Amino acid sequence: MGETNAPERADVIVVGGGNAAFCAAHAAREAGADVLMLEKAPQDEAGGNSFYTAGAVRVAHGGAEALAPILDEATRARLPETELAPYSEADFAADLHRVTEGRCDPAMVEIVVGKSTETAEWLHRVGIRWRLMYERQAYESGGKQVFWGGLALGTVDGGKGLIADHTAAAERSGIRIRYESPVTGLLQDESGAIVGVRFRDAGGTEREARAGAMVIAAGGFEADADRRAKHLGAGWERALVRGNPVNTGEVLDMAINAGAARHGDWASCHSTAWDAGAPPQGGNRELTNQLTRQSYPIGIVVNRDGKRFLDEGADFRNYTYAKYGAEILKQPGGVAWQLFDAKTRPLLRTEEYDSHPITYAEANTLEELAAALGIDAAGLRATVDEFNDSIVDAPFDPTIKDGRAARVEPPKSNWSQALDAPPFYGYAVTCGITFTFGGVHVDDHGQVLTESGSPLPGLYAAGELVGGLFSGNYPGGSGLIAGAVYGRLAGTTAATPTPPQP
Ligand SMILES: Cc1cc2nc3c(=O)[nH]c(=O)nc-3n(C[C@H](O)[C@H](O)[C@H](O)COP(=O)(O)OP(=O)(O)OC[C@H]3O[C@@H](n4cnc5c(N)ncnc54)[C@H](O)[C@@H]3O)c2cc1C
Repeated sequence: MGETNAPERADVIVVGGGNAAFCAAHAAREAGADVLMLEKAPQDEAGGNSFYTAGAVRVAHGGAEALAPILDEATRARLPETELAPYSEADFAADLHRVTEGRCDPAMVEIVVGKSTETAEWLHRVGIRWRLMYERQAYESGGKQVFWGGLALGTVDGGKGLIADHTAAAERSGIRIRYESPVTGLLQDESGAIVGVRFRDAGGTEREARAGAMVIAAGGFEADADRRAKHLGAGWERALVRGNPVNTGEVLDMAINAGAARHGDWASCHSTAWDAGAPPQGGNRELTNQLTRQSYPIGIVVNRDGKRFLDEGADFRNYTYAKYGAEILKQPGGVAWQLFDAKTRPLLRTEEYDSHPITYAEANTLEELAAALGIDAAGLRATVDEFNDSIVDAPFDPTIKDGRAARVEPPKSNWSQALDAPPFYGYAVTCGITFTFGGVHVDDHGQVLTESGSPLPGLYAAGELVGGLFSGNYPGGSGLIAGAVYGRLAGTTAATPTPPQP
């Protein structure tokens, strides 16, 4: 370890290099601040979980025409063939309350939902390119591309495009970014105010950086197996990390040790069906989100005994996928298989199911498929026969909740199709953890609060490191918009702190 050099100085220091951090940095810079970003990862591994995303962003909107001004040329050319129902603020808020079973902080919901549209428009002005995600969120029906599940807007080139656009915008506006510079401590003055950070620079030297305000946007603790086991419970150390391998939660702990209050649900997280052969400790920067397997509502999911264990069609994928990783983790060996046949295979998301390498098998009989995948063949045969015989007579339509149920235990509420047309396909999945839901408590301006509810002077926060919005489950596309809304708020306030009240 080297000596401590002269401190760096800035008006606002932003800790992290993902979407929330960039939003805070852009907003602070727009407000006139000299901004320094400290990113733990080297430049070619930077961008946090945000880099690994599909770039899906949930916003309230008035339909395709209303979104048109921020969409790219290619999408605008497709609008005549597009059917996108308006998604109101009330719809968005109701989805957050429903999927978290009322455990979301209502004040935070109001802020994220109420500012979602204007924040997407602001990001467009910053330089983020937007499109509609036909290949992920729409099915062809009646000659139109019909969007489903309240989610349509995405960034061009997914998370890779998002981080590239953020980085280019930061370069244009003169934001300074130090890569390979993990923050190792927060500096507090004698009054308790946060006045700077300690970090290790790319050469390994311990240094200080001082500023009028700090915005911490360093993610959750999903990539730290010990913290996972401690907060989420035994077994979670086995989950595969879907995204950034260095989101290990130390900055969150630093904030709590400095007096920040915890908020939200520290015992649950976002986790999904993830290729069983994926790397354990962090995603693949080439494939990123392609390792996810999200077309299960069209098929069935079984465990090693050949038994189903969840309602694949309980709701649109966007409202179930983030809680089903935890269900897979509970199965024998922590693995499961998504099964499809020749009828349903063409409906799967191509970017995920045509991705290579992929852990799967195909066979002309269920018995051969079971043998190839290591599933109990008799158990699978019994499950499939019972399932096939229990499907109600209703038309299949993946663009709506079609009520085509299978009346078995557990039920499949929608989109049931008999598994009877060879070849059969089985995709091996395990639990991939995305991000943790617990974090620090912030006020309406993104300032960190203490246990007593008073602001912690000098400290602001955004993104996954903030708790309160999600619990047990999550509506797809909400993480990026939450980070953007709170990042923008925190950056703006940090650059123009309100003077203390007498
Ligand atoms: C595979 C995958 C797909 C996803 N798809 C979507 C999607 O389509 N839509 C959506 O809304 N959400 C999606 N998410 C969730 C989404 O990634 C997060 O909600 C969002 O990116 C969080 O942004 P953030 O800036 O808070 O965190 P991150 O993007 O993770 O950024 C945290 C940053 O902090 C840095 N850091 C950590 N520790 C330190 C330290 N000590 N010092 C300095 N820096 C530090 C990290 O290196 C990183 O740059 C997905 C996540 C994954 C993993």
